[in-house]
Amino acid sequence: MVSRQIIGTNRQFNIGKIICLARNYAEHAKELGNETPAAPVLFMKPASSVIGDGDTTVIPAYSQECHYEVELALLIGSAACSVSVDRAREHVVGYGVAIDMTLRDIQNQLKANGLPWEIAKGYDTACPLSDFVPAATVADPHTLNLKLAVNGELRQDGCTSDMINRIPEIIAHISAIFTLEPGDVILTGTPAGVGRVQPGDIMEADIASVGHLTISVA
Ligand code: ZN
Repeated sequence: MVSRQIIGTNRQFNIGKIICLARNYAEHAKELGNETPAAPVLFMKPASSVIGDGDTTVIPAYSQECHYEVELALLIGSAACSVSVDRAREHVVGYGVAIDMTLRDIQNQLKANGLPWEIAKGYDTACPLSDFVPAATVADPHTLNLKLAVNGELRQDGCTSDMINRIPEIIAHISAIFTLEPGDVILTGTPAGVGRVQPGDIMEADIASVGHLTISVA
């Protein structure tokens, strides 16, 4: 069982399902040549893909092109089923930082063939995830600066203000499809600047006042 703590408290959550948004930042959708979707594009990662700060992400042998995607992570604290946009934020107990590791070559092949993405997105070590700061300490989650550096070189530098679907709409939309339960996590999409990592690289993901991850690649 993988768990995460609410920093500064003794509250601990066993991680459940991890629901992710694709193409939630227009500039990133454009850099991959994708249309900006009308409704959120969703996929999931299993809890078994989670690793933590200081851990190593391992690129599976079946891929030659592994990408990083820094994302704001929401930790769900209470059950949410078909919640309204107005009440959606009440279900977020914490904010953290995640890297949505993606096997881009495999994902592109699966997309071209109309097949699901799990082996490109949900393999072991594909979800570096920090602990979470209490939601109450984040006044406005739509003003957060997301950064990712590889070997000390800044690659992604975005802001959550550029999300296409905002957090209350995301939670309302998802909760009408999948009941959200305590310990579930939502990854809210990545800004532009995604790119490749190789064995030996060090990634540093950072959202100021929310979290930091240092992850090595093997
Ligand atoms: Zn992503």
